[in-house]
Amino acid sequence: MSSAFLRSFACFLVMAVLSSCAVSLAGQAPASAPDPSLEIELHGTITPEKIGTHETQTFQMPQGIQRMDVELDSPGFQKGMYVTVGMFDPERYRGEGRARFSISTVTATGPYMPGPLVPGTWKVSFGFNYIAPEAHGEYTLHIHLSRQLDPVHYMVLNPKPGWYMGDLHSHTGNTDAVCKSQAGKDVPCPVWKLLEAAASQKLDFLAVTDHNTQVTFNELGEVQPYFDKLLLIAGEEVTTVRGHTNVWGTMGFLDYRAAEHGFTVNDLFDQAHAQHALVSINHWYWPWDGRCPGCGWGWAPITDYSKVDAIEVINGYHEHGSWFTPPAGNGIPLWEQQLAKGLRPTGVGGGDEHRGGEQLSSHDGVGIPTTVVYARELSQPAILEGIKAGHVYIKTHGPDGPELLLTTGSAMMGDAIKAAKGAQVDFSIRTNDHSGAQLRLYLDGKPIATQPAVSDGAASFQWTSDGGRHWIRAELVDGTPGDDPVVLTNPIYLNWR
Ligand SMILES: [Zn+2]
Ligand SMILES: [Zn+2]
Repeated sequence: MSSAFLRSFACFLVMAVLSSCAVSLAGQAPASAPDPSLEIELHGTITPEKIGTHETQTFQMPQGIQRMDVELDSPGFQKGMYVTVGMFDPERYRGEGRARFSISTVTATGPYMPGPLVPGTWKVSFGFNYIAPEAHGEYTLHIHLSRQLDPVHYMVLNPKPGWYMGDLHSHTGNTDAVCKSQAGKDVPCPVWKLLEAAASQKLDFLAVTDHNTQVTFNELGEVQPYFDKLLLIAGEEVTTVRGHTNVWGTMGFLDYRAAEHGFTVNDLFDQAHAQHALVSINHWYWPWDGRCPGCGWGWAPITDYSKVDAIEVINGYHEHGSWFTPPAGNGIPLWEQQLAKGLRPTGVGGGDEHRGGEQLSSHDGVGIPTTVVYARELSQPAILEGIKAGHVYIKTHGPDGPELLLTTGSAMMGDAIKAAKGAQVDFSIRTNDHSGAQLRLYLDGKPIATQPAVSDGAASFQWTSDGGRHWIRAELVDGTPGDDPVVLTNPIYLNWR
């Protein structure tokens, strides 16, 4: 198979539409030797006598295939030959009309239909729509079958490294998001309305994390070419009877039926990691008294926190005037408990938007909070790598909030450095805040005794190491009692393992 053909898999579902697709493997499926049984080629000739006819060829679909990527290699209309590909599985028609497309169990390039890749004999109907009188040629249909659902290659919306802003937690009307209809009624909120709201906030990425469903992924693939400045990350809020966990980076099935015995939440984490995804614990603090069934983290006694990649330290779901508002400190306490144990889950934000961006108060909306991730490019693998590395800060009031960067030497938040006993470590803090918010530095979860002042957007802090394990993180606070910090960073880790 040619490298050109491999590159043609580069676009998530929409290969025929986008031209700027790049190869990006890091953080995703490990490379393995190609399985020749999964590579199929069908060859044929194109002659003027075939004009206005169909020619059927067949191939065998093995058991256990989750995704197929198809490309027709033919001389093309420029050379007077126009051939189309119709696809029929053993049971039904799957679609016709494109020269490059993918079909998987949950997604497909339109006009092809997603669904099970039924084992058995598949038929391909080649339509000879036009062949110029003197034209002669050959066609080859390349079919790449995969036992994994997610594409090996992903779209890159921006190839530059930098800080990218997004929201890692949102819902559509496919589960429980509701917004106003044209006539003003509350109706299931369309996916596009959420995406329009995220785009209007100038977010760079959005994880749509509907509850216990894979049904949204096909629509996300269809609309990604239109939203070519908003990276859509495959996500799911796996909603168990004992707590909610966000999973980012897979379209595969995740077993929400975790119970105390047998399959537990730790097995669920393993299942997600086997699909090269990250997991996060969401809004762990909700009470266990029936007001929000299953919302609090009831798995705490048995959770293996070493399997937890992130903790939602700021959840944006608020119902003002009701109990349904995050407590003071939001999700920070559980996060710091894990840091104190020597674990390094990344602190992230999640808007938990349920209204398609309709703002009922200043606390509502997509991107409130905004999670800002340093990534080598704007692609799903790169954003997930940045989250895993802890290269993250959180603007709790939305994307227009101030930046806050904590560094020492070439290390940034999320990184670990060594500092021998007696060594002095110089930290730098940078912000573009103009509101006069106060800088707070925390050492091992406690505010340091003498807080540095910010001057012209910069501050510094010297710390003498005792050789032990510590973490330092930064916040800006505006002094409103009980309010979340305006912005907070992940820690820099000292003498970590
Ligand atoms: Zn939830
Ligand atoms: Zn949610």
